[in-house]
Amino acid sequence: MSIQQDNRFQAIISHAKEYGFVFQSSEIYDGLSAVYDYGPYGSELKKNIRDYWWKSMTQMHDNIVGIDAAIFMHPTTWKASGHVDNFSDPMIDNKDSKKRYRVDHLIEAKADQLREKGAESEADALIAQMDQLLAAEDFAGLKQLMTDQKIVCSVSGTANWTDIRQFNLMFSTQLGSVAEDADTIYLRPETAQGIFVNFLNVQKTARMKIPFGIAQTGKAFRNEIVARQFIFRMREFEQMEMQFFVRPGTQMEWYNYWKQERLNWHKSLGIPAEKYRYHDHVKLAHYADAALDIEYEFPFGFKEVEGIHSRTDFDLKSHQEYSKKKQQYFDADVDPSTGKPYGNYIPYVVETSIGLDRMFLLVMSHAYDEETLTKEDGSTDSRVVMRIPAKIAPNKLAILPLMKKDGLPEIAKELLEECKPHFKCFYEEKDAIGKRYRRQDAIGTPFCVTIDHQTKEDGTVTIRHRDSMMQERVAMKEVRRIVTEAL
Ligand code: ATP
Repeated sequence: MSIQQDNRFQAIISHAKEYGFVFQSSEIYDGLSAVYDYGPYGSELKKNIRDYWWKSMTQMHDNIVGIDAAIFMHPTTWKASGHVDNFSDPMIDNKDSKKRYRVDHLIEAKADQLREKGAESEADALIAQMDQLLAAEDFAGLKQLMTDQKIVCSVSGTANWTDIRQFNLMFSTQLGSVAEDADTIYLRPETAQGIFVNFLNVQKTARMKIPFGIAQTGKAFRNEIVARQFIFRMREFEQMEMQFFVRPGTQMEWYNYWKQERLNWHKSLGIPAEKYRYHDHVKLAHYADAALDIEYEFPFGFKEVEGIHSRTDFDLKSHQEYSKKKQQYFDADVDPSTGKPYGNYIPYVVETSIGLDRMFLLVMSHAYDEETLTKEDGSTDSRVVMRIPAKIAPNKLAILPLMKKDGLPEIAKELLEECKPHFKCFYEEKDAIGKRYRRQDAIGTPFCVTIDHQTKEDGTVTIRHRDSMMQERVAMKEVRRIVTEAL
């Protein structure tokens, strides 16, 4: 990360705290690593992103329904899903600094360095070699690769490494009050399995016909080996996942559909297309026949924000095997090649999986702007403005009486009462108007309205637009319509 990028990222983190978006968890006890709390504006923004996703999935697609499954699941779920045996990352410790790293992260960082020096093909070869060794679980080979590449710990500067070990990322706990009877259960590391085990319940009760999807948002937990970069990688986070059940053989068609559809969703927030790219997986997970990441250019480079995975029938088949309950669907549609119904089969699945917290960081990264302003007298001033897309902004409208007297607050409160059932408003009387505008800019409020003495005479107010800072005089009775239309 360049100094400039690093400064920008640090500025976003400080801003998030200072303006009540994100706090370190249990901060008064010096915090808990990679766990965060959302403050007043953060929780609004997070909820708005979640709602925007939920609506686009369940309301805008006639064939997608939602569920809300529990975090705790029967322990066999995680046997069947492969998480007990496979959900681990190779890690390595530096004996001098005692720092722990994910091996793939160390090698990827080396490849990035090579790229910065213009050695593109060398970097690609390194990643390809790493992928091969990871797929073969050849840890001795991986360690040799680190030695050959002279990879050192950034803290101690040495290559005094331990052996590479696998580290399971699931958190476990006990269910039941008496230790001897208690069962070990896991905090779910993904929300998807709650969807798979409910596949038939949902299909039957909501009378869904293939192709159809089940959407869910909720907490997931991963004991990440290295959790840095603020809310990019957390140990407790929230996912928004959708499993789309399709007829076997049609999965690539749907994979391509969702690849496009999901990118369109990101673009519909007004975030520039050039900040996104697709990254096709070379090394596929054991259950997938195609997979890609949608990456965004965060201040620390292009990184995954969402995954699109064609998961075949792996999950349902595996749950059928472990539960001994059939997970089949009867397809009454006629197969034109045989003239008979498609009949019984286990559906294939295309999944879209996005981290809500990561999307939140994306929005913050996109929105944060330090702007220098030239005043009429030629002097300069600056402001921090969060250019949060209006439809997900924490507050939509700030209502500000110019003064705390002369009946202005009363008029302002009338407007507040009129607007607040329709969108989130904010009311404030204290401080000079300029200062109040700046505070709203800093939390991303798209519109401010000022009520002044002229309002009493002609019923007009000043509406100020966050991004352009343009101000215009409009009739107070028009404010609700103007804001609603902009949303
Ligand atoms: P990564 O490669 O970054 O570890 P992943 O490929 O393991 O991610 P998935 O299992 O595909 O991620 O999870 C889907 C989405 O959930 C990711 O695209 C990301 O947005 C989010 N996510 C995964 N792990 C975390 C985490 N530790 N903290 C925050 N979000 C996460």
